[in-house]
Amino acid sequence: RYALLLESVTKTYGSGRNAVTALNDVTMGVPRGTFLAVMGPSGSGKSTFLHCSAGLDRPTNGGVTLGDTRLAGLNEEQLTEIRRERVGFVFQAYNLLDSLTVADNVGLPFRLAGTPVPTDRVRAELANVGLADMGDRYPGQLSGGQRQRVAVARALITGPDVIFADEPTGALDTRTGKQVLELLRGVVDRTGQTVVMVTHDPVAASHADSVTFLADGRLAGELVAPTPEKVAE
Ligand code: ADP
Ligand code: ADP
Repeated sequence: RYALLLESVTKTYGSGRNAVTALNDVTMGVPRGTFLAVMGPSGSGKSTFLHCSAGLDRPTNGGVTLGDTRLAGLNEEQLTEIRRERVGFVFQAYNLLDSLTVADNVGLPFRLAGTPVPTDRVRAELANVGLADMGDRYPGQLSGGQRQRVAVARALITGPDVIFADEPTGALDTRTGKQVLELLRGVVDRTGQTVVMVTHDPVAASHADSVTFLADGRLAGELVAPTPEKVAE
């Protein structure tokens, strides 16, 4: 079973002479409970891949299936619901709201959905990312690594099937970046959730189970990390 399946996905921006094909006939599946990294040079289609996969943008052709749900059949309202409840996002620049406390940032997905914020879950999720005592602080009082861990807690709080991470270590030094990657790795290993991460960083990609390469909008190869059994052979 796939957490995410792309079937012949093509995305073209613009039309006529100005048309740019950002994704070109991409077919791939991400098994549930795995950590996938997507790499490729600037302009190779990584962001487009992420946006189409997460229901932020619609492919020009082909289909995306998240879990059992084919996104093409959904209207905007249903897509919004999918984004709120079934996927989580982690961005390079954290995207926290500076005027809200850390705890309120983590509870934001519920507030946006108009449902009561489960404060015990907020507390548990903050503890899970190693920030149990930071709930009352503001993002401006935290280091970059701490902010990104708040963003991970916010991405996890709705219990999404897939967490999409866009260059999650792009603004961090090696040490704090590693903490965030180990956090994502732990999420996959402990909860069976799926992480799809776009990155330029080979060290970040080394935490993934497999790496898919994009070039000019096409799949250009895949590396699968050896399983422990393979290493032992
Ligand atoms: P990457 O994330 O690997 O840098 P992108 O998916 O951002 O790649 O871009 C792939 C191609 O699509 C690039 O040529 C880019 O210029 C083009 N592109 C991306 N978004 C748009 C857009 N909104 N309008 C027009 N062209 C776009
Ligand atoms: P991390 O655990 O994210 O690596 P650091 O070791 O970088 O944290 O930072 C240690 C402490 O210094 C943090 O608890 C944080 O409060 C503070 N700190 C670090 N960087 C900043 C920053 N840019 N702005 C405010 N506080 C910071």
